[in-house]
Amino acid sequence: MKKINANVALILLFLGIAVGSHAQGVISKEQASSEVRNVILMIGDGMGVTHVQIASMRAGKSLAMEGAQYVGLAKTYSANNRVTDSAAAGTALATGRKTNNGSIGVDVNNNPVKNIREKAQEAGMSTGVVVTCEITHATPATFLAHAASRKLMDDIAVDIVKSGVDVFIGGGRNYFEKREDGRNLSDSLRNRGYNVAYTLEEVIDTQNGKVAALVIDTKLPSIINGRDTSYLETATAEAIRLLNDNDKGFFLMVEGSFIDSGGHGKNAEYIITETLDFDRAVRVAFDFADKNPGTLVLVTADHETGGLTIPSGNEDFLLNDRGIKFLFSTGSHTGVMVPVFAYGTGAQNFSKVMDNTDIPKKIEELLKFK
Ligand SMILES: [Zn+2]
Repeated sequence: MKKINANVALILLFLGIAVGSHAQGVISKEQASSEVRNVILMIGDGMGVTHVQIASMRAGKSLAMEGAQYVGLAKTYSANNRVTDSAAAGTALATGRKTNNGSIGVDVNNNPVKNIREKAQEAGMSTGVVVTCEITHATPATFLAHAASRKLMDDIAVDIVKSGVDVFIGGGRNYFEKREDGRNLSDSLRNRGYNVAYTLEEVIDTQNGKVAALVIDTKLPSIINGRDTSYLETATAEAIRLLNDNDKGFFLMVEGSFIDSGGHGKNAEYIITETLDFDRAVRVAFDFADKNPGTLVLVTADHETGGLTIPSGNEDFLLNDRGIKFLFSTGSHTGVMVPVFAYGTGAQNFSKVMDNTDIPKKIEELLKFK
């Protein structure tokens, strides 16, 4: 008995050392002694813990996000439903306020609620939003607009023009240039001093200043339908480059928009490719945080999609085989908690079970807005 206990202790000791010595698992002295000045909030739409796990199984190694120094869990229910949609969850993550499903940046009575990006902007920070969907779509809209319904995409585009955001990169050009009211909002953006870009290459060629990148008419294709696997990581890196030009720091929201679609389609391959793509952008953000103490990176989801699980079966030991079967309990969103991976300065504040509304509240506290 004694010997077994000693062995267990040895194993635990070994695990402790193994975890502690993993470079990414430890917050550096510089990160610990800094104050938070840059925040990169990364949202995997529909990304539950199983989505992360099956992507990691496919990769045959830990994902970048698994190198987070602290990990928590967030509850995602909305004001009117135990299962949220992206509009209500995005509003919770952007404003710290629960609202009804379908609502964009407004409370349950449709009153606009100021979001964390707007507050950062008022505090003099640079701000940006990077997505793979239309920039007018639910999640990015909650950081840029206020609307009673996520369906009001033409109105949301008008709000985006007026938002003051420094950099945005995504799809949805049609909502700016082929509108029911006939207005050309890209001209409005130019009048407000934006460099309007229609390709990522044009963003790369832009030295500085405000950038509005509408890289496609609608949304980008999924990875399995041909999206360039460098798009999201490049867009993230370029947004960071453009925003990191302000001694008051920056706030950037990055969304891996299509992990959710894989869940709706009960398509594991779709989820894996989109999660791995999102993770490449996470690596860019973590690398930036390593080199720039004072940077906090949070990687979370607005909700889980698909009720995805890993059942027992004949494929049990084929961890990297494409034939492995996963089980979806629904083709919709679920109300289970989602992961919160925290990296860099201030990451220790997110190592707990929280409500999704706690995330922007804590960010605000750490940024010490006046
Ligand atoms: Zn969805």
